[in-house]
Amino acid sequence: MALKDVIGQERALRILSGTLRRDRVPSAMLFSGDSGIGKRLAAINYAKAINCMQPKGFDCCDECVSCRKIDSATHPDVLTITLESVEDALSLKEKTGKDKNRYEYPIEAVHKIEEILYLSPYEGRKKIIIIDDADVMNINAANAFLKTLEEPPPDSLIILISANPDRLPDTIRSRCVNIKFYPLPLDGCKGVMSEHIDGKDMDFVLNLAMGRPGLAVSMDLVKERERFTGTLNNMIRGESKDAWADKGEINSWLDTVSVLLRDMVVYGISGKETDLILGNRQSIIGVRREAKDILDAYQEMQRLKGLLDFNLNKSITWNYVSTIMKGVMEV
Ligand SMILES: [Zn+2]
Repeated sequence: MALKDVIGQERALRILSGTLRRDRVPSAMLFSGDSGIGKRLAAINYAKAINCMQPKGFDCCDECVSCRKIDSATHPDVLTITLESVEDALSLKEKTGKDKNRYEYPIEAVHKIEEILYLSPYEGRKKIIIIDDADVMNINAANAFLKTLEEPPPDSLIILISANPDRLPDTIRSRCVNIKFYPLPLDGCKGVMSEHIDGKDMDFVLNLAMGRPGLAVSMDLVKERERFTGTLNNMIRGESKDAWADKGEINSWLDTVSVLLRDMVVYGISGKETDLILGNRQSIIGVRREAKDILDAYQEMQRLKGLLDFNLNKSITWNYVSTIMKGVMEV
């Protein structure tokens, strides 16, 4: 694919191709917006367009050696850094101790980035480093990284990708050209997902994806829902203590429970099953609560999501969420 094939992000693409047309590619950019809407895809294809050997207009050819190497992550001048890759490379597990909820970029990751950036491009036009989940840096890493941003090496581009840009220090954010990405409209979402999702599941998954096709494609949302329902039932019946594996799981569980609460409000008003996003009427039937109480619960889930970074204690969170959910769901 090429930059132009990134679906549903016309505004971002316009800005990106503008930088190519004017030959004014910045040295640092921040791609921000929800998970699963195409930020990383756009970053990779932007890198291809910059280093393409036979660009088509202001986009990549998607055929030359450079384009192919970038696609297969073997281009010596283009590096995508993810938390997983850093963890592998630096045995981060040992370094951050046992707590699996606290993966973050350590300072070694920044040193690695600098090492690559300060060499001149090997075969491409620019050295490009794409950092996924860039907001998850520890304080030492962020400070070291700020220095790199203050004095960017020539012919280099750093693209930070973040679903939570507010968590980046202001000092880092202000040095980047910020490009915002938005959830996709229904049609675009369907277009991206149609290759990956069974026709029969499409409507359900489409709703659940809420404009984030990348999430729908990378996860089996149907299985996810079953798992969610199982956990919720255990929670309401008080049968298990804490069924969440890690912070990531709490986060997506809170997302799903928010959708459920939304369903409860809507069903309470319209009484129509077709209005439900999660489509599991069983779990909300018989619930007779005031919309206001449900909305309060919804807001509490959103607040908890915001607190996840502050090392919420898992079992205390579980008990707290149980109390709220029992309050709105017990018949
Ligand atoms: Zn090319």
